[in-house]
Amino acid sequence: MSSQLHFTNRFVSELPGDPSTENRTRQVMRACYSRVEPTAVPKPELLAWIPEVAQLLDLEATPSPELVEVLAGNRVMPGMAPYAACYGGHQFGTWAGQLGDGRAITLAEVANAAGETWEIQLKGAGPTPYSRRADGRAVLRSSLRELVCSEAMFHLGVPTTRALSLVLTGESVERDLLYDGHPAQEPGAVVCRVAPSFLRFGSYEIHASRDDHDTLRKLVRFTLERFYPQYVDGDRLDVAGFFEEVAQRTAWMAAEWMRVGFVHGVMNTDNMSILGLTIDYGPYGWIESFDLDWTPNITDASGRRYRFGNQPSVAHWNVAQLGRALARIVDDPEPLQRTIDRFPAELSSLYRHGMLRKLGLHGRRETIAEDDALLTQLAAMLVEIETDMPIVFRRLATATSSEGLRDAYYAPDAITPAQHRVINEWLRRYRERAEAEVGDGIHGLDVRERKSQMDSVNPLYVPRNYVVQQVIEATERGDRDALPELLAVLRRPYDEQPGREHFAAKRPDWARHKPGCSMLSCSS
Ligand code: AMP
Ligand code: MG
Repeated sequence: MSSQLHFTNRFVSELPGDPSTENRTRQVMRACYSRVEPTAVPKPELLAWIPEVAQLLDLEATPSPELVEVLAGNRVMPGMAPYAACYGGHQFGTWAGQLGDGRAITLAEVANAAGETWEIQLKGAGPTPYSRRADGRAVLRSSLRELVCSEAMFHLGVPTTRALSLVLTGESVERDLLYDGHPAQEPGAVVCRVAPSFLRFGSYEIHASRDDHDTLRKLVRFTLERFYPQYVDGDRLDVAGFFEEVAQRTAWMAAEWMRVGFVHGVMNTDNMSILGLTIDYGPYGWIESFDLDWTPNITDASGRRYRFGNQPSVAHWNVAQLGRALARIVDDPEPLQRTIDRFPAELSSLYRHGMLRKLGLHGRRETIAEDDALLTQLAAMLVEIETDMPIVFRRLATATSSEGLRDAYYAPDAITPAQHRVINEWLRRYRERAEAEVGDGIHGLDVRERKSQMDSVNPLYVPRNYVVQQVIEATERGDRDALPELLAVLRRPYDEQPGREHFAAKRPDWARHKPGCSMLSCSS
């Protein structure tokens, strides 16, 4: 990072920190962070570098060897003020107490020439006071998955943190991939991620859980002044207005996940960004065969709390936990409760609207019941007849019969005549509904327009689970072309890319039950 970078580091200069700088596991009270330096690694090798993210930070287009050392955690530049944040969280519905950045270290906040501020954070850069019994490291597969998916989400238009780089450490890390007593050595890596802030719901909950209203109030003031200034009026903080906006952003984010077929996998409150960004990419997955009950996370396989179709409900539950924490510092909690109560209806309206856009339809008040029926029946059909979500939504614009959806079906020859009839009947009603809009002259799109509008919200290229797994395996074997090629494809998710069709192909049979493709764990 060039020395003319402008470090602001307001988080550490304005908020209470841990007085101890010892890097030893502990409970950290009355503080938002602990100062800690990354632990050096033996042999950094830069595997990925995202030039547009570098540009956000006013960095040079190609990184210098010194910069790679910084990105590996081997060097801290003058002006940086590294720290690990203190936060807690509800994990799988239960309060888990202090969690904190066990392996993430923020290096600095950077103000760019455009006046924006970005937090630069290394994940996997060694132990911190919050590491508990873990090693503070991350493996290549999970780090590559974070970099690829966060960048893919950005290009899909979904709110997300970004990634600047991925560095192999030259050190191996022991992990038990499936938690079944078979630990193995894996290559270690460090991802450098970038966001205006990595503050989470759990950053607020931790202080509320400890009755530390003073620190909570300071953190809320800091958050509002920095990211929600419209809710600060001198000494007065409009906590209810702020909370309402966080709820709206969270609802939008969850609706967007449903639109693109993303399953976060671990929607714990420590993984919910206060800015409504998708954050902490772990055992996430992408919907291939459309299934509202699918979860990629094997740790969640029995309860399925974080399954695809449950994400809106969990977002609501998480927002309610944040509301409970914020209620500690307001005189009247009633407006917070109103926001919580309104959330399901607002999210379901965003969801309906998103799904209708996927069909090229404009919802209207008078058509809500009809539209809901259309959407429910479509979902039921796609679940009953194993169908690929990205492909089918690209085909619906032009398909006039079930045969037109053939390449989206996983087992086309197993579909019964009765099932074909159900699909044909649905397609007929869908076309009628679309033509009625053309007829009303206000909302109508002709077929060509509708197809192009649908294509702009129905991605062709998403980081399919098996595709990313193949890129991980290639990279582990020493292939240095696979990852840049995948990143290039995912930069244009809505465009046909001749020659790149295999990146959009539906999941092959071998990937159906393969670890990394359909089963992910929190082991990372
Ligand atoms: P996650 O499931 O990645 O959101 O992590 C949950 C918590 O565990 C966070 O506080 C992480 O920082 C922490 N954590 C996960 N993996 C490690 C690790 N290898 N070393 C230290 N802390 C970790
Ligand atoms: Mg996390």
